[in-house]
Order: sequence, then C-alpha cells, then structure tokens
Amino acid sequence: MGTAADSPTSATADAGTTPSTDAVDPTRMHAVTAETQAIVDLVLDYSRRRLLATDTPLDKPATETELSRLAGRTIDERGIGATRALAVFEHVLAPACITIDHPQYLSFIPAAPTKAAMAFDLVVSASSLYGGSWMEGSGAVHAENEVLTWLAGEFGLPLGAGGVFVQGGTIGNLSALVAAREAARERRTAAGLPAPARWKLVCSTEAHSSNKSAAKVMDVELVLVPAGPDGRLRGDAVRAALEEHGDDVFAVIATTGSTNFGIVDDVASIAALKDDFEFWLHIDGAYGLTGMLSPLARARYAGVERADSVIVDPHKWLFAPFDACALIYRDPEIGRRAHTQHAEYLDTLTGKPEWSPSDYAVQLTRRPRGLPFWFSLATYGAAAYRAAITNSLELAQRIAEEVRSRPELRLVRDPELSIVVFERDGWTMDDYERWSTRLLEEQRAFVTPSSHDGRPNTRFAIVNPMTTFEQLVGILDSME
Ligand SMILES: *Cc1c(COP(=O)(O)O)cnc(C)c1O
Repeated sequence: MGTAADSPTSATADAGTTPSTDAVDPTRMHAVTAETQAIVDLVLDYSRRRLLATDTPLDKPATETELSRLAGRTIDERGIGATRALAVFEHVLAPACITIDHPQYLSFIPAAPTKAAMAFDLVVSASSLYGGSWMEGSGAVHAENEVLTWLAGEFGLPLGAGGVFVQGGTIGNLSALVAAREAARERRTAAGLPAPARWKLVCSTEAHSSNKSAAKVMDVELVLVPAGPDGRLRGDAVRAALEEHGDDVFAVIATTGSTNFGIVDDVASIAALKDDFEFWLHIDGAYGLTGMLSPLARARYAGVERADSVIVDPHKWLFAPFDACALIYRDPEIGRRAHTQHAEYLDTLTGKPEWSPSDYAVQLTRRPRGLPFWFSLATYGAAAYRAAITNSLELAQRIAEEVRSRPELRLVRDPELSIVVFERDGWTMDDYERWSTRLLEEQRAFVTPSSHDGRPNTRFAIVNPMTTFEQLVGILDSME
C-alpha cells in the first residue's frame, strides 16, 4: 500500500525517529484494568447485538479503493483505540462481507450456525484452550471426541472409530488420504513387496476439487472414473478401474452429496468391491453426509458403514460456525501412525497413549474447533438437528415442485438432498450474471450462476432453517 511513510523522504525522516518503547507499559494489553474492561465490554456488546439481530443485511463486496478510502489507515504506532477500530469494523469492513447466515444466502454451500454454537465460539476464544494434545486440553478433547463418536455411530461406523476436527473438508480429505496411503504402504512392506512406481487414487469425475488438489499435493496419480448419466459413481465403473490399475490403487473416494447437485454416489456397490479388492474407502461427505441424520434421506447412504474414513463439515449443514470439518477414521491408529509429528521437545506428548488430536491430521497447533458444535448439540439435543436437516430436505422438494410447475423453468436434475439446480428458458450466462448482480445489489438474495455440461443455470443451496418457501418463490418470480 502506498502511504506517505513509504516515500523515500519520509523513510529517511522515520529512520531518525524510530519510536521508543521505553514509555509504554508492557503489561497494558494484558492486565485487567479499566481500559481492558471497557474493550471487552465493547466487543461483547457488539457480539450480542450481531448474534441477536434479525435484520442483518446481506451486504456485498466493496472494492479495494473504496475500503482504503472508508477505513483509512488503522495501523500505526500509537493505536487508534478500540472504539474507533470497532467502528471501522462495524461500519466499513463488516458491510463489505456477505452475511453467510442470511436466509437468502443460497449460493455455494452456505453456513447457518445455531445461536448457541456462535455464542460458544466466543467462549472458546475467551478460555485460551489448546486442542492439540491431551496433556494440555483433555477436557476440550473429551467433549470433541464425544461428538466424533456420536457422528461415527450415526454413520454406522463401529465403536472405536474416531478422529479430529480439522479446519475444513480440504484438509480432512488430504489427511484421510495420507493415512490411506500409509496403510497401503504398510501392507506392501509387510508382504515384502516394493511400493508401486506411482500410487493411484480413484475418484469420480464429479468429485470435489479438493480431492484433485490432495492428489496433487501427495504427488499421486488421479484415476478419474466417469459417473453415470445421473451423476452417480457406481461400483461397476470402479471395478473396471480397480481391475485395470490393481494394487497401485491405495484409495477410492465416494462422494455423499456432490457440491454442485447434492448427488450421493452409490456407496453400497462401491463398498461391496471390498470383498474382491483391497483398498481404502474414503467418504467425502463435507456437505452431504449430514443428510444421513434425517430419516428422510438415510436410506441413500447404504454402504457408508464400510468406510475406512469419512469427513463431514459441521460448518456446512451441521449449523456450526466456520471453520470445522469432522474427520473420522474407522481405525484411528492408522491415522496416528501416518500423522504424528516427532521432535525432541514433542516426545513428552507423543510418547504417551493418550489421545492427542494433532496426531490424526496434517496439523499441530489447533484450537478445539469442535467445541461450538459440541455445545450446541449438547444444548439442543440431536432431535433438534434432525428436524432442521429434514426441514432443508423438505424445502428443497417443495421448491423443486414449484420449479416444475413453471413453464419457463426446468430442473437440471431432481434434487436428492438440499440443492436445487434449475435453468431459465432462453437465458445466457450474461442473463444469469445480470440477474444475480441485481438481486445482490437490491439486497434481496445471494444466488449465483453456475453451469452444467456447458449450459448455464443457477441453484439454491438450502441449509438455513430460516429460509422460507415464500422467499424462494420470490426469487423465482424475479427471473422474468
Ligand atoms: C465443501 C466441500 C469440500 C471442501 O471443504 P472445505 O471445508 O471448503 O475445505 C470437499 N468436498 C465436498 C464434497 C465439499 O462440498
């Protein structure tokens, strides 16, 4: 950023006046004083207002130029004070961030954290918890593990399954796949066989980009298997890939809820291949594995119970704040062998039998990011979650029916979970772009264009229980 202080003349001037720290009290920022109390009050008051507001606007992005002009310079030697800094956040920065938990935010995959989960996120920060090791965070880790065990049970995994909350599905997928390769390596070594020239990873052409990214990071070959015409990956297609690539394949990924359409792969037929081939079955359920918690969708997930690892993002459809992905291994021991970091100063932690979350993924320092979800689940109970998830599933079916009833609209696919993708007759990508921009400009909704097979479309991704049928109908009405 080009400020006056960067110019050669003022740099010379600054050199002679490097601020002295002599007069500054080094405990000022930490001691409990009238000043720190006022700062805490200010921040908590704001948080309370935001948490309980029912009219937070959608907001929209601003340009760098606008933000520089409106926010001004906020970082200097003396500090601008909490009141001014918070005012800049409230009036300049926050309005330039789209409100992800707004009921009319329907793009990508939204988030809709519960009030309890959002509020408890403040507690996690206020308590300075370290969630990397049992030694330092046993209480927090215990609660996170209770949630992971509960989820594992919902997904049909056996007792003993467990894992860790990581930052997001991308890190969750990568960590699971690294463990999968470790398992394959160990198996090869035990059999006295060398590693293949290149390990291979099988997934659907429709799989999420993070799986392709994991293959790149791991430097393994990606074997893309075509999904069926309905977008679903099936056992027979995977069988052909396993027959062709044999033991070089260390894992097969099934997606339970594709990000674009919410399509659930035919996991049962893929899992059945385990009877004939040796491979690690990983379930990428970042968005959609949540559907398994509703009796309305549970049957779609047969076969998940045979998975070696699964991920689901509570920050997507499990009503937790950013950012949290639950990574669960059928046999966590393999995850631990793959991921534990060793160093002289860490041996006091890693030499112990206790459960240290850092040992199960690509990470070391971590906040116990599963705790907001734990608090909310403990507060409201699982039935409240099932009801909210079922609500999304039902709303998706209802609005799909409405789309079917309108001659100018066409469903691209019948929705399976809570994503509804549809086209407007005769619209080009430009039409969708203009319409989408106008909706956000008018603060009516955040609905972005997408495409399938080269044809433009748009979609509703519904995860917020506050989204109503009438709001969605209003958006359809705006497509004239
Ligand atoms: C969102 C998503 C991911 C990536 O998760 P992040 O939390 O964004 O890293 C992976 N797979 C699927 C199917 C997803 O929907």
